[in-house]
Amino acid sequence: MTDFALIDGELHAEATPLARIAAEVGTPVYVYSAEAFRKRARDFRKGVEQAGRVHLAFAIKANPNLAVIRLLANEGYGADVVSGGEMARALAGGMKAEDIVFSGVGKTRAELAAGLDAGIGQFNLELEEEGVVLAEIARSKGLVAPATLRVNPDVDAGTHEKISTGKAENKFGLPIDQAPDIFDRLAPLEGLNLRGVAIHIGSQLQSLEPLEKAFVRIGKLVAELRGRGHTITHVDLGGGLGVRYKEGDVPPTMDDYGAMVARVTKDWDVELMFEPGRVLSANAGVMLTEVLWVKPGVTNPWVVVDSAMNDLARVALYDAHHDISAVKPSGETFVANVCGPVCESSDVFAKNREIDTVKAGDLLVLHSAGAYGATMASTYNSRALVPEVLVSGDRFAVVAPRISAESIMDQEPIPDWLAD
Ligand code: PLP
Repeated sequence: MTDFALIDGELHAEATPLARIAAEVGTPVYVYSAEAFRKRARDFRKGVEQAGRVHLAFAIKANPNLAVIRLLANEGYGADVVSGGEMARALAGGMKAEDIVFSGVGKTRAELAAGLDAGIGQFNLELEEEGVVLAEIARSKGLVAPATLRVNPDVDAGTHEKISTGKAENKFGLPIDQAPDIFDRLAPLEGLNLRGVAIHIGSQLQSLEPLEKAFVRIGKLVAELRGRGHTITHVDLGGGLGVRYKEGDVPPTMDDYGAMVARVTKDWDVELMFEPGRVLSANAGVMLTEVLWVKPGVTNPWVVVDSAMNDLARVALYDAHHDISAVKPSGETFVANVCGPVCESSDVFAKNREIDTVKAGDLLVLHSAGAYGATMASTYNSRALVPEVLVSGDRFAVVAPRISAESIMDQEPIPDWLAD
């Protein structure tokens, strides 16, 4: 069975009718399939194991729900984290400290210290000073910090500019040509075990070409570092593999990705590390929403749904596309705009799109919403924080409840001196 499919004319998550979840939990709500996560986690592992022994760290920024983290920990995954909060989540979700990689362009001293105290497996350094400070903190604690240098390979990932990270002008990583000298200066520091290099060139990559180009550059860097006498045991190849959001998207398969990695890295003699996020999670989740109104428009009707840009920001943020379909399609379609209730013109999920014909009260699904969905949700317009549900077969659990506008208000004391 596919993970989100029509059974007897009605959309299900695995064997659970989405209408049942809407009735019991309400809408809007994110719905994840446990089996979909597991399948992708296993396929990714199988793909990259063509290259030998690998370390897998789920980029939990894509979906940091604790139940999702636990599920992936059970699959043998560690975590790629970019904040102290994400590190705490990875640990709380059951990931082993030594399987956690700490990335991020602006780690604070407190976060570096917390990572050392927790005994995390690797820090990916973004600048020379960060390495100096990390070594200093580690020494003060009598510890040694395992680390890599994240380099910017200056490769155009060919993805949306807001999710591109590997071009020279992006804020991420050290310029690759400066990396050898920086490595020379950092490697001797007591308190630091500088053991390799890391890259991540962008997200939602639809072609292996830029990845291969970047990996080849990293291979040359590894050779140069070894030529300078450094011991290189780890290379972190990041994440970035794209997924299918719409018809016509043909992302590389995990198998082809793994084959390319195996070919490019065959002589590297290192432990390869990966930080997949979207590829494990995007198509393991949907956003379930109810139609509030169908409002006449100038050209097409507006289908006003009860989810909005605060619940799923990707469309407003990156002009992203999410397929939209009815939970109980009638077989008829119409051309419509689909929007949320938030007071912003960018709160539009689709324009002039042919979708299943719907009326007020019908349920709709925005597909491919398991990555960079709930985690980016906010309470803008004083809306509730959207809940999350995890399905396994014919059972489901609320893995993040709806947080009401009222309970958020409870956290906002009005100072006494404004009393009158
Ligand atoms: N690793 C790092 C350092 C990232 O910044 C990101 C996302 O931007 C990822 C991994 C995950 O990327 P993706 O979800 O495209 O696999």
